[in-house]
Amino acid sequence: MLKLYNTPKKQLETFSPKTPEKVTIYTCGPTVYSAPHIGNFAAYIYWDLLLRVLKKNGFTPYRVLNLTDVGHLTSDADSGEDKLEKGAKREGKTVWEIADTYIDLFKSDFKKLNLLEPEIWARATDYIEDSKSLVEKLIKNDFVYETSDGLYFDTSKFPAYADFAHLDLNHAKAGARVKFSSEKKNLSDFAVWKFIKPGENHTMRWDFLGRPGYPGWHLECSTIIHKELGEPIDIHAGGIDHIPVHHTNEIAQTFGAFKTPLAYFWLHCNFLTINGEKVSKSLGNILTLNDLEKNDFSVFDFKLWLYQGHYRSERNFTFSDLEAAKNRRLSWTNAYLVSLQLAEKAPRPSIKTSEFTSDLLSRLNDDLNSASAFALIDEKKETLSAPDWEYVEDLFSLNLLENLKSDSFSSLEASLREKIDARNSARLKKDFKTADALRDELLTRGISLLDTPSGTFWQLV
Ligand SMILES: [Zn+2]
Repeated sequence: MLKLYNTPKKQLETFSPKTPEKVTIYTCGPTVYSAPHIGNFAAYIYWDLLLRVLKKNGFTPYRVLNLTDVGHLTSDADSGEDKLEKGAKREGKTVWEIADTYIDLFKSDFKKLNLLEPEIWARATDYIEDSKSLVEKLIKNDFVYETSDGLYFDTSKFPAYADFAHLDLNHAKAGARVKFSSEKKNLSDFAVWKFIKPGENHTMRWDFLGRPGYPGWHLECSTIIHKELGEPIDIHAGGIDHIPVHHTNEIAQTFGAFKTPLAYFWLHCNFLTINGEKVSKSLGNILTLNDLEKNDFSVFDFKLWLYQGHYRSERNFTFSDLEAAKNRRLSWTNAYLVSLQLAEKAPRPSIKTSEFTSDLLSRLNDDLNSASAFALIDEKKETLSAPDWEYVEDLFSLNLLENLKSDSFSSLEASLREKIDARNSARLKKDFKTADALRDELLTRGISLLDTPSGTFWQLV
């Protein structure tokens, strides 16, 4: 039975979707104006585990991931620069080129991590007409008022506005009164549509209500969910920084337009810091997947490192901890190899469920407790069968056999290469006695061989 921690209720709850054959999931996506860093990917790696655990529980996830290519200002409070315009200025490109470039990069990193692709990649600019009709509904239902720079959602008209994030609005109002625009009725009000003033340089623009403008950032998520999934959805996931503003505003808009809740379950993952500091450009501590690879790590070492902790805990990244994760992954690779070699010598029936797999899943069913699942793998690794390891791979996708390629064959000393070749030809001739003797000899010289349907792999042990 899968239990997840539901943010608004602040407790673990048994998960039961509207329809198990189509568990509707929405995960807030990236703003595509710069290279994604490892902190950005932490969320998608956690939600990948969520999807895989759902599958193992017999559910069929149907997930939408949005790509914010418009309207996200550098501040949550509807001020500051448009992030896409900022990227365009920085790189001397158009905003459209910036969006395309970083969407491609995000998707290729996503693939590199072997994350399950969403059923729908939803690009915000493909939903402009839908966004306009959502604003029209808000206007019709009297949730919106106009200021000189846009259309704002009147949060005082949604009495439950403060509930989701347990906000103390009165306190916030008194403390920050001086700072907020006199045109806003309440401090927490937010733009659903921004106007472009004459002479203002904003490339992405659409006519709406007789003047040029663009949608507010929060709007796209309510819009896309309405169009692609239909509210309320089963699970809405994002980072904890989204709780007080972005997700609170999504809920308010959806209620204002459709009079329904947005989601049954809300999952939030915590921050990733690097060497104890928040990941930020100004601190110069941005690390991309490429940077990890340049330092001789696999992106799967990073995945394993991340799953060593819990998605609701803050994680602090250091290269020395990544090194430890790399070694742990290597020890699992070796144990997996041994299980494959045993399976080759004495094939076992391919059991898909064992005591181990059901224990592993039940640990993950406790709010995706991957750390506890990993402790079990460590404890049992010497005894796991090849199908057990496949099950581990189904859940965590750690690509444990990644390095078992013979592409660095030429780097081995000649006598070893000759022995490997001799052993392979003996095996082809079905001279198993010689083949086995050569394999044992190679093992004493630190080379482990693995025969698979796609060829023989070797690795240093
Ligand atoms: Zn969102």
